[in-house]
Amino acid sequence: MCGIIGYIGNENAVPIILDGLKRLEYRGYDSSGIAVMNEDGFDVVKQKGRLSALEELVTRSSVKGFMGIGHTRWATHGEPSDINSHPHLGSQNKVAIVHNGIIENYRQIKERLEQKGIEFVSQTDSEVIAQLAEYYHAGDIVETVIRTANALEGSYALGIMCLDEPDKLIAIKKDNPLIIGVAEHGNFIASDVPAVLAHTNKVYYLNDKEIAILTKTGVEFYNMDREPIHKEPEIITWSLKSAEKGGYEHFMLKEIMEQPKVLKDTIQSAAGDGDNRRIIESLDISKFNRIVITACGSAYNAGMVGRYVFERLCRIPVEVELASEFRYKDPIVDYNTLVIIISQSGETADSIAAMREARRRGAVTLSIVNVIGSTIAKETDYTLYTMAGPEIAVATTKAFSAQLALLYILAVAFAKKLNRISDEEEGRLLSEIASLPDKAAEMLEKFDAIQKYAVTCVGCKSIFFIGRNIDYAIAMEGSLKLKEISYIHSEAYAGGELKHGTISLIEENTLVVAISCCEGLYEKIYSNVEQVISRGAKVLFIGNCIKAVPGEKLEIIELPKINEMFASSLSVIYLQLFSYYVAANKGLDIALIIESMHRTYEKQIFP
Ligand code: GLU
Repeated sequence: MCGIIGYIGNENAVPIILDGLKRLEYRGYDSSGIAVMNEDGFDVVKQKGRLSALEELVTRSSVKGFMGIGHTRWATHGEPSDINSHPHLGSQNKVAIVHNGIIENYRQIKERLEQKGIEFVSQTDSEVIAQLAEYYHAGDIVETVIRTANALEGSYALGIMCLDEPDKLIAIKKDNPLIIGVAEHGNFIASDVPAVLAHTNKVYYLNDKEIAILTKTGVEFYNMDREPIHKEPEIITWSLKSAEKGGYEHFMLKEIMEQPKVLKDTIQSAAGDGDNRRIIESLDISKFNRIVITACGSAYNAGMVGRYVFERLCRIPVEVELASEFRYKDPIVDYNTLVIIISQSGETADSIAAMREARRRGAVTLSIVNVIGSTIAKETDYTLYTMAGPEIAVATTKAFSAQLALLYILAVAFAKKLNRISDEEEGRLLSEIASLPDKAAEMLEKFDAIQKYAVTCVGCKSIFFIGRNIDYAIAMEGSLKLKEISYIHSEAYAGGELKHGTISLIEENTLVVAISCCEGLYEKIYSNVEQVISRGAKVLFIGNCIKAVPGEKLEIIELPKINEMFASSLSVIYLQLFSYYVAANKGLDIALIIESMHRTYEKQIFP
C-alpha cells in the first residue's frame, strides 16, 4: 500500500533508492528499508520509524551496490517493527523482495513451507513471497517468479532480486500499481511516478501479471506464459507536486478516488479468507445482550450507520456514544456488553480513554482501526483492521468507508450466529456488500453533476443535511465533512425533526441536501423536501429511490441501486465529493486546509 523503488544501473543504487523513498514519503509509512546486492550477497538495512533515521543508518553502514530495492511499509500483517520491515529475504539469503499489498493465502503457504523445515522470522504476509520464491528457485528466475505469482492470492506489487541473477531486477504486480522507469544511467521500478521523476520521465505502466526484467541497459516484458510482450512507454508531463497526488489536486480527492480499492481489500479481508474473517468468526456474539459503539468525529458517524444495521439485522439493542462523553457518564456496561471502538489512527485520546473505561467495567472490547500495533489495536480484546492504507488528508474519506464495510460484515456475521437470518439471506447480503466496490467505481467515473452543483454552493452561509433512518446517519457525516473542510456552517437533521423549530431557519435559497435511499421512507423525506422548497430553499436530492422530477429549486442526483442497509457507502461518496468541491472552489485558504495533512499524519504515526 505504500512505496517501492528499485534500481539497476551504472551508479551506486543506495543514494538513488534513498532519494526515491523520500519522494514516496508523502504516501505515508510506518517503517522503511533497503537491500542492495553486491559480491558478498545482500546488504539489508531496515527499521521501524522515520526515513531520516534509515538514511543515517544506511550512511553509517556504507552499503553499496549497483542494484537494489527499497520500501516504505504500511503494516497490514504484523505490527510495525524492525524485523517486519521490508525487504524480506528467504532463509538461505538467496532471494530478496519488497512487497506492497496483501497476500490473502499467506497462512496456508507459511504452514506448507514450515512443514518443510523453512523457518520464518517475521509476522508479515510478505515474507512468504521471499521464502516461496527461494523454495521454487531451480536456476531460472523467470520460471521462479511465474510459479510464485501463480501460488499467491491477493494483491501485490513486487520487486525481486536473486543472487543467481546478479544482472536482473524483476518486477511483477497484481491489483497494486507498479511502473518501470528507463533512464540513461539505469532502470527503475517504482510504485509511483514521483520516485523516478528526478531521473526520467519515460515510464511503462505494468499491467496485472506482466513481468518486467530490468538490466542495466534495458527492460523486457513477459506474460505468465513466458511470451515476450511489447509495451509502449509513456512520457510523463506532470510536475512533481501533482505527480505526488496521482495527478489529483489534493490528497483528499486522491483518497476519495481510492475508495473502490479500499472497499475491495477490506471486504475481502472480512468476508473472504483474510485475518479479519478469523477474528469475526472467533467472537461469540450470543454472550452479549447489548452493543455499545463509541468513537469520535466521522468514526462516530460510522457507528451511527452501524447501529441501524446491527439493530435491523441482529435485533440487539445498540447505543452509540461519543468517546469524549463516555467515561464521564458512569456508563452502564458490563461483561454482557460488547463495546466497539472505532478509530482510524487507533490513537484517538478520547477513544483510548473510553476503551479503558469499558474494560475496567468488564466489557468485552472490539476495535475497528486502521493502524496496526496502535494503542487501541493492542489493548482491545478483538481487533479488525480497515485496509485503507495511510490516510494523509485531514478529512477522513477512505478510512470511513472501510469502517462502514467492516460494520456491515460484522452485523451480517452476528445476525447469522444469532440465527436471525438464513444461509441464503446471509449469502444475499454478503453479495450486496461485495458489489460496493464496483458501484463506488461506477459513481467515481461520472461525478460531474455533483461537481457542477457544488460550484454553485460556494457562497452558501449555511447548509442543512436531512435524511431519515440510515439516511439520517449518513447525513450527519455529510454535514461534518462540509463543516470540516469548507468552514460553512451546517447541520444534519432527521427529516421529521425539521418541523420542531428548525424549519424557521430555512429561508430563500438556503441549501438543503436531502438523502433518500430508504425506500419505505421515500414519501416521508419527499414531504420534507416539499416543505423546505415551499419556504424558499433549494434542494439537492441524492438517492436511489427518488420519484420526483427535477425543477428550478430541485436538483436530483441518482445513486446506484443497492440494499438500503448498505446504501450509505454510496451516498457518502457524493457527499464527500460535494464537500470537497465546495471547499476547493472557495479559494486558497480552504485549499490550504485540505492540504494541511502532513502535520496530522506525522503526529499520528511518529508521536
Ligand atoms: N502486507 C505487507 C506487510 O504488512 C505489505 C504492506 C505494504 O504494502 O506496505 O508487510
